[in-house]
Amino acid sequence: QEDDFKRVISHAKEYGYVVQSSEIYDGLSAVYDYAQNGAELKKNIREYWWRAMVQLHENIVGIDAAIFMHPTTWKASGHVDAFNDPLIDNKDSKKRYRADVLIEDYVAKLEAKVEKEVDKAAKRFGDAFDREQFVSTHPRVVKYLEQADTIIKRMARSLEQEDLADVKALIEELEITCPVSGSRNWTDVKQFNLMFGTKLGASADSAMDLYLRPETAQGIFVNFLNVQKSGRMKIPFGIAQVGKAFRNEIVARQFIFRMREFEQMEMQFFIRPGEQKKWYEHWKAARMQWHLSLGLGEENYRFHDHEKLAHYADAAADIEFRFPFGFKELEGIHSRTDFDLANHEKYSGKKLQYFDPELNEHYTPYVVETSIGLDRMFLAVFSHCLQEEDLGDGNTRTVLRLPGVLAPTKAAILPLIKRDGLPELAREILDDLKWDFNVQYDEKDAVGRRYRRQDAAGTPICITVDHQSLEDRTVTLRHRDSMEQERVPIDQLGSLIGREVDM
Ligand code: ATP
Repeated sequence: QEDDFKRVISHAKEYGYVVQSSEIYDGLSAVYDYAQNGAELKKNIREYWWRAMVQLHENIVGIDAAIFMHPTTWKASGHVDAFNDPLIDNKDSKKRYRADVLIEDYVAKLEAKVEKEVDKAAKRFGDAFDREQFVSTHPRVVKYLEQADTIIKRMARSLEQEDLADVKALIEELEITCPVSGSRNWTDVKQFNLMFGTKLGASADSAMDLYLRPETAQGIFVNFLNVQKSGRMKIPFGIAQVGKAFRNEIVARQFIFRMREFEQMEMQFFIRPGEQKKWYEHWKAARMQWHLSLGLGEENYRFHDHEKLAHYADAAADIEFRFPFGFKELEGIHSRTDFDLANHEKYSGKKLQYFDPELNEHYTPYVVETSIGLDRMFLAVFSHCLQEEDLGDGNTRTVLRLPGVLAPTKAAILPLIKRDGLPELAREILDDLKWDFNVQYDEKDAVGRRYRRQDAAGTPICITVDHQSLEDRTVTLRHRDSMEQERVPIDQLGSLIGREVDM
């Protein structure tokens, strides 16, 4: 697993997808740059989301709000008081942990024990094995699951009640029963705010303390009335946005999974109070459908319903994806009630209500939100699609099986050799196709090596121009995934490529 993940990171660098920020200065922790192919892939994911959410929904519109927001925004949203991670340091190893993440690691150990028992029993009983029955009756397994449940509940309660001493006590107890860190010498748990502070204005006394936004959602809430009025939107309706967000993450490992500067794609759906259950279920299903439409395999997704709810939510679920390091959150669907609008109304003194002509009454709308990290989605797609394929003849190839719609380069045009007029014809084809697709010209090395290079870069189609092309204006079209080749007329290339890569 760890090797797979290392391969993902080095491939991302080698093929111009993702590199460390400021690499020549040895980088900056948890900050990354997207290189030429990464920028294209990221843009394509962003567009794929935008089309599904905005273009295909008559009642959803998109905005682009500023990163800087009035500081009172973050009072109203709860981020000044509640956007904290509980931190704990280990005095022996000098390592810093997020207390909740550490506790989840203990629970994961218990769950691993359960899986071991399940595997053992499944082997013994073969086809007759009933997993449900086994985990609900086997005494050892039942005990592990009860323990896991008790730990999570106790953690949720203690964090909710800000009982940080109990969080520490829990970690100390767990370190004895199922050690994770290997040492027992802990500091107290402290709350650490994740927002980056900065200043607006030059003079010392008039400068205003600001935060870089930790989520894009608030830019939507403060614009709720502007958009509703100018767009004459009727409830239910949604406002979508894609943009940068910043969090001073403590546990910032795992490549672009957890960054300090990242991009979110969020949609706030404004609804009648009381209808939140229906819309929450609707968006859970719709978002899962969007993920499945990319064809990365149903078995790689699952829902995780939250017990520990954030300060704004009355229900929350994650869509988890099977990353190289296990199932982890990719997207969140949150039922936020009227928490945000009601608070902005309170702090700003401005009415943020909606007049519902059907009910003939004013109310503060409720909100169901879908929130996905663009970079995390990038990692999901990239890591899943990077495959080492056994070709059966003793050879392997590295292939990046990106869905055509997301691939940075849709087709590479390759003259078989660098003379006899083949480069000229290849360039003519390129100059025609480039108006509709991102295409690339490649003439260096033998054609087999060029195919491999394009496979590894994720290009779904290669077009090879040879001597026959000069005579009958046909070319070889080679497919990345099947490696199949077909002879096609040059004037059909546009429609053939379109069929494979258009949305
Ligand atoms: P986590 O529990 O992983 O810290 P979260 O629950 O705080 O995430 P939300 O606040 O719900 O995340 O943010 C919505 C989405 O934004 C997440 O599902 C994730 O895809 C993305 N996201 C959040 N924090 C980061 C980050 N530091 N780097 C990259 N993406 C992030």
